[in-house]
Amino acid sequence: MKKLALHWQILIGMTLGVLWGMLASSLGLVDLTLDWVKPFGTIFINLLKLIAVPLVLVSLITGVSSLSDVSRLSRIGSKTIGIYLLTTVVAVVMGLVLVNVFEPGKAFSPEKREEFKEQFASTTTQKSTDAAAVEGQGPLQPLVDIVPSNIFGSLTNNGAMLQVIFFALLFGIALIMIPPDKAAPVNDFFEGVNLVILKIVDLIMKTAPYGVFALLAGLVVEFAGDDPGSAVELLLVLGYYCLVVIAGLSLMIFVIYPILVTTIGKTKYKTFFKGIFPAQMLAFSTSSSAATLPVTMERCEQNLGINKEITSFVLPLGATINMDGTSLYQAVAAVFIAQAYGIDLDIMAQLGIVMTATLASIGAAAVPGAGTVMLVIVLQQAGIPVEGIALILAPDRILDMLRTTVNVTGDATVSMMVARTEGQLHPPKETATA
Ligand code: ASP
Repeated sequence: MKKLALHWQILIGMTLGVLWGMLASSLGLVDLTLDWVKPFGTIFINLLKLIAVPLVLVSLITGVSSLSDVSRLSRIGSKTIGIYLLTTVVAVVMGLVLVNVFEPGKAFSPEKREEFKEQFASTTTQKSTDAAAVEGQGPLQPLVDIVPSNIFGSLTNNGAMLQVIFFALLFGIALIMIPPDKAAPVNDFFEGVNLVILKIVDLIMKTAPYGVFALLAGLVVEFAGDDPGSAVELLLVLGYYCLVVIAGLSLMIFVIYPILVTTIGKTKYKTFFKGIFPAQMLAFSTSSSAATLPVTMERCEQNLGINKEITSFVLPLGATINMDGTSLYQAVAAVFIAQAYGIDLDIMAQLGIVMTATLASIGAAAVPGAGTVMLVIVLQQAGIPVEGIALILAPDRILDMLRTTVNVTGDATVSMMVARTEGQLHPPKETATA
């Protein structure tokens, strides 16, 4: 019998995980699930995170050094960053338009607002403390943070991915500049290590269907507790807001990216979608672009035919700085909270949100919940009460899953565009041109 394709296996794993979670909540098996099922999800995420730093380091070094000269690197680099910024701004503007048209924040009754504010005030404090550290810094601090004073320190911290990227770029550039006979063994070494890392990714992915089962089962029981009804009720209250975010995210996935993939990438969207589906499923299950990165790279190379030279540079960078879903979500969430508090935001304030949401999404780490921490910055800059985050925390995990899926799809879209314009897209046989 033919083996089921990986993305179907993952999808089945996810569905069974949700069903198990719901069943466990109704049958009082919450503790059993938390003790015996959820840890396997954690192990799966750990495995993915484990490989993220070595992968970024080695793939960027090999990626940069394979670009024969520095001018080629700077051309591809500026093109990549330019498109990343553009798609992010499009996402924020789309979020703003939707939230202004549908006004989900005005749907709350005043009593409900009071209730939410009190209920979640304590949870908000932690998020604000995290963000306060960011807020208290000077304007150039983000730049300073990119340059590590000790590379081994950065390598031990999954949150310091930009520093690892900086070092890898520097290393790769220097490798291009030394005499070829001296560079050759170093290149060989990193290429070999790269293959080993990709093989490890392969092995980890074999466990993905079980990993996502455990992740989603754990998530559902944690959310629902012993009373699945409460989760449903909470979701209904915030459903309208979620729908607006989801509408924006869907527009990105089903309108904006298809336009870019078919016009500039010159590839059928179905082919593109089919190629990266497992990465999307994984983004959904892990809520982390960084954890999904190995699979995004593998699928872009093997299923879409994007040259390694492009993926190894564009995707690690994208996972870290390009978050269209996150920026869209931040725009909707900020205006939603303002609406709930009865604050009218004029056009200047909304333009300010375009700016801060773009920067905040670049600054957000590619891990679960990072977009929500950075949302505090957007709120503060726009003069919206930070406690308002309380309103949106409940369904945040679900939105995080969805926006991460968009983030990863956006990275893949841009890598396809860069690859096509650089003549580095060589689709495997059935991939026809649109
Ligand atoms: N979880 C998102 C990501 O990793 C970031 C966020 O929006 O929280 O892409």
